[in-house]
Amino acid sequence: ALAATMTACGSSTKTIDAETSASAAAGNAGALIGVTMPTKSSERWIHDGDNVKKQLEQLGYKVDLQYAENDIPTQANQIENQITKGAKLLIIASIDGTAITSQLQQAADANIPVIAYDRLIRNSPNVDYYATFDNFKVGVQQATSLLKGLGVEDGKKGPFNVELFAGSPDDNNATFFWNGAMSVLQPKIDDGTLVVKSGQTDFKQAAILRWDPATAQKRMEDIITSTYTGGTKVDGVLSPYDGLSIGILSALKSSGYSKPYPIVTGQDAELQSVKSIIADEQYSTIFKDTRKLAEQTVKMADAVLKGQQPEVNNTKDYDNGNKVVPSYLLDPVIVDKSNYKDVIVGSGYYTEDQLK
Ligand code: BGC
Repeated sequence: ALAATMTACGSSTKTIDAETSASAAAGNAGALIGVTMPTKSSERWIHDGDNVKKQLEQLGYKVDLQYAENDIPTQANQIENQITKGAKLLIIASIDGTAITSQLQQAADANIPVIAYDRLIRNSPNVDYYATFDNFKVGVQQATSLLKGLGVEDGKKGPFNVELFAGSPDDNNATFFWNGAMSVLQPKIDDGTLVVKSGQTDFKQAAILRWDPATAQKRMEDIITSTYTGGTKVDGVLSPYDGLSIGILSALKSSGYSKPYPIVTGQDAELQSVKSIIADEQYSTIFKDTRKLAEQTVKMADAVLKGQQPEVNNTKDYDNGNKVVPSYLLDPVIVDKSNYKDVIVGSGYYTEDQLK
């Protein structure tokens, strides 16, 4: 059935015949699953890892969960170790989506299926499925929220001074977020509503390697010093991730900005940033419920290990440079001060107490 599934998606060269895969499926009960996450330095990945592990264990699987503190060779080693330990399936949230090709080849040689988690793994045929959020939509939502915060949605004409930040260039998601955001912002830049005073409007200029908050803080400080002289002020900042937003807000504060702060967006609804939203510092974030992503991924893994066809809802958007990876996309949600209680507390993601 695995062979059938793969061929149905037109995506595999694996030749597991029906009998082998049926016996594999029976043999996979209680199997070891390797889960690799990028880093514990951002809270979201801790939630992701915990949720995936817990849900797999509830189905009787054994789980080896590893974090690599954003170090690419460490993650490559962790994947190799999991293959050596006899993992029957790998779930990978990659650091650099192009840097684990040889490990994936080892996995394929051992008939170990691979699910890319949240971030697409690029340039390899050996990625079977992808579970993520609609990453283009995340970018659209960040930009929409920036415009709402600035008052453009209510008819304010500007011009508003905005600065643009993007994520890590080796993370496939970063380009999706950027393209989604620019699909909304570029027309407003073209008609003069928004002005990027630094002139830094290319992805390459805006990108922050490894999503590092300190790098974002430094870039914001440099932009303020070089561009915002003689009383001109920053009105808004497109930030693609809560950690960067914290760095950006620190730069603004140390340059003398106070409430009301420029409109700063974000992503991930990390605890500190939701608190910052409540305190009128960060303006918004994008909530991606890691419990749901874990649930979808675990369902996929379980189906694959049972020789069944996992559910996907997108078979066109995620071309990894080698093939289009069959994907399941979840819906992200904009969160600001007006709806955090409904969305974040209401869904049980954080309690009121945690947000105090
Ligand atoms: C994830 C985002 C996250 C970023 C930094 C991206 O791949 O999709 O949710 O903010 O990495 O960790």
